[in-house]
Amino acid sequence: MDNSYEHLAEKLNNVGVAGRKVCIIADSNVAPLYLNNVIDICQTIASYVTYFIFDAGEANKNLKVIENIYEKLITEKFDRKDFLIALGGGVTGDMTGFAAATFLRGISFVQLPTTLLAQVDSSIGGKTGVDFKQYKNMVGAFHQPSLVYMNLSTLNSLDDRELSAGMAEVVKHGLIKNPDYYEWIKCHIAEILERDYDTLETMIYESCLIKGDVVERDPLEQGERALLNFGHTVGHSIEKLMDFQLLHGECVALGSIAASAISLKKGWIKQEEYEDICHTFESLNLPTSVKGLDANAILEATKSDKKMDGGKVKFILLETPGKAVIYKELTDKDILEGIGFCL
Ligand code: NAD
Repeated sequence: MDNSYEHLAEKLNNVGVAGRKVCIIADSNVAPLYLNNVIDICQTIASYVTYFIFDAGEANKNLKVIENIYEKLITEKFDRKDFLIALGGGVTGDMTGFAAATFLRGISFVQLPTTLLAQVDSSIGGKTGVDFKQYKNMVGAFHQPSLVYMNLSTLNSLDDRELSAGMAEVVKHGLIKNPDYYEWIKCHIAEILERDYDTLETMIYESCLIKGDVVERDPLEQGERALLNFGHTVGHSIEKLMDFQLLHGECVALGSIAASAISLKKGWIKQEEYEDICHTFESLNLPTSVKGLDANAILEATKSDKKMDGGKVKFILLETPGKAVIYKELTDKDILEGIGFCL
């Protein structure tokens, strides 16, 4: 974690980039901002540096773009010891990681996350993949990056809506694992939204610790790692049904409201705790309800998501704010009732 790319060359050297080929992958928004800087740094150590730019946005997180990446790597004769570098948000990271996981049965890659969401969540843990038809993250692989290097100053160019979207994953970390962190977030909302550097640094570090801890214990999501899907079960369905008009983090906030409402109905969290969660998302300028969607359509989409286990939806609920559990016994009625709270 740094506030520049000052130490990037040294870190790339430590993971074996010296003398290798490098392809930097960035989207059309991030490339004009940071690509030249990263190319210059890579050129000081790699034997050959090239780049691939795709149109920004979740709608482009698909196999077509992956195919174009493969084609570039083949044409430019990349081999198994060469590197991909993801420079951007979660979309870039997920796609670069997937291309790296599958090209020549797996090559190394590096994450240079530039959104809050990518810094606190998607760049860590090795989940890579793309959307397939109407299914979110349906095709993918677990593939750990060799290095995650965060230049926090890149957050200065991120627009406010994207910063808030990243906060949905941060709140999630507090809600599922650490009540004190959840309280800390609530006490620092003004500083976070003002992008106070020290506050963001403390927060990103804490979120990375929580995520890192969980994925270290359960890298392949055999158990505990599923807790990180809090808010994502319903959230992914809303994201797809809204045809990506809402950001991923915004949908996670909506899905978190639904999961919290189910936890309330089960008698696990209290009314005031539920209201406090809604208030926290609102204070962070995140949506707590969405118009124009049908609850049954969201339920159906939820059932075709990856989070199914033996025909049952694997739902993440809150026992208390700060402790989440995996629950597979929800009925359609329970889920529909929860979805009703975010419509
Ligand atoms: P994103 O990558 O689309 O980035 C959001 C927007 O910000 C894009 O328009 C991008 O061009 C722009 N941007 C990025 N960095 C910028 C900067 N520094 N300055 C200005 N603009 C910048 O989306 P995201 O919110 O970063 O990530 C969402 C994706 O992450 C989703 O596809 C989601 O499924 C995935 N995700 C993956 C994991 C995982 O574990 N792999 C976890 C959570 C989310």
